[in-house]
Amino acid sequence: MGQPLIEDDYLGRRIAGESRSNTQGPVLLSVVVPCFNEEAILRETHRRLVATLEAVPDLDFELVYIDDGSRDATLNVLRELQHADARVRVLALSRNFGQQMAVTAGLQCAAGDAVVVIDADLQDPPEVIPEMLDRWRKGADVAYGVRTKREGETRFKRWTASAFYRLLARLTDISIPLDTGDFRLMDRAVVNAFLAMPERDRFVRGMVAWLGFRQEPVPYRRAARVAGETGWPLRNMLRLATDGLVSFSLLPLRLATWLGLLAAGLALSGIVYALVLRLCTAAWVSGWTSLLIAVLFLGGVQLLMLGLLGEYVGRIYGEVKHRPLYLVEERLGFPPTSRRAVQEETTE
Ligand code: UDP
Ligand code: MG
Repeated sequence: MGQPLIEDDYLGRRIAGESRSNTQGPVLLSVVVPCFNEEAILRETHRRLVATLEAVPDLDFELVYIDDGSRDATLNVLRELQHADARVRVLALSRNFGQQMAVTAGLQCAAGDAVVVIDADLQDPPEVIPEMLDRWRKGADVAYGVRTKREGETRFKRWTASAFYRLLARLTDISIPLDTGDFRLMDRAVVNAFLAMPERDRFVRGMVAWLGFRQEPVPYRRAARVAGETGWPLRNMLRLATDGLVSFSLLPLRLATWLGLLAAGLALSGIVYALVLRLCTAAWVSGWTSLLIAVLFLGGVQLLMLGLLGEYVGRIYGEVKHRPLYLVEERLGFPPTSRRAVQEETTE
């Protein structure tokens, strides 16, 4: 990893904060849409995206749909859309790799000067994209959607999500904006920097926050899912939460030190107490209750820390295997030679 991470003419091309004028003709926007079992809604999503983007002046766009190993007819619908509209690109992964990987795959083959990532289920309204573009044209490098209101989500999901973001903000060194999902616009420079990050446990919103650059919030109301079901059962949400914590914070590892100190402190005061009792009075600390409590407490702490250690070691194992992040089974609608081809050669 001796070479410079990002060799790119996009970096440093622009003076920071300078607005992007469109004197050089229309810009190209890529919209990356990860899709997992979304057959019921994709046509509507496509219709709304196209209607919104066609209304924006001085804009060319491409729609990059990633089929993340769907088990329903999603891929067929995508093929149909591609057939009818040359601006559609379809990338089908060989199996379900998860939303974060699907987004990564999409970013990797997007060719735009700016790239928007948006969910397929219309929970993130495409109508917000023009505002993100506006921010970008005025000089922002990242325009991220902030949910001001969440509709159609259970109280449990809203509560856990909010608690998680706040915990993450406290535990990590970087500040991930609260109530932010993956709905965002990124400048080409940011996308390239993102793609230069090779890690396997991809917590996209954390990684983008880590990158820095000029990031601006764009508030919007998060609508209810129009059709289909959430592909994120509790188990996956927990996994994403662990990824977020473990990838961005070493604090859990330090917990061992603090718990060790606490246990030692307790033990010490116990010893003093027992000695004082024995030497100064006729009574003494008795029985196996105290013994058992001490043994169980220490045993519990040790197992907990072993588990945490395992979490990190497991991730190191995952990284050193150096498997590809995802596998592509089919691609449709991509022009044969373009910047993306060069990109893939250098990053894959
Ligand atoms: N998704 C995906 N792979 C998965 C799960 C989800 O590509 O394994 C996509 C899904 O099609 C949607 C987006 O990721 O476009 C967000 O998923 P979902 O709506 O299920 O998540 P939620 O909105 O409940 O957080
Ligand atoms: Mg959703």
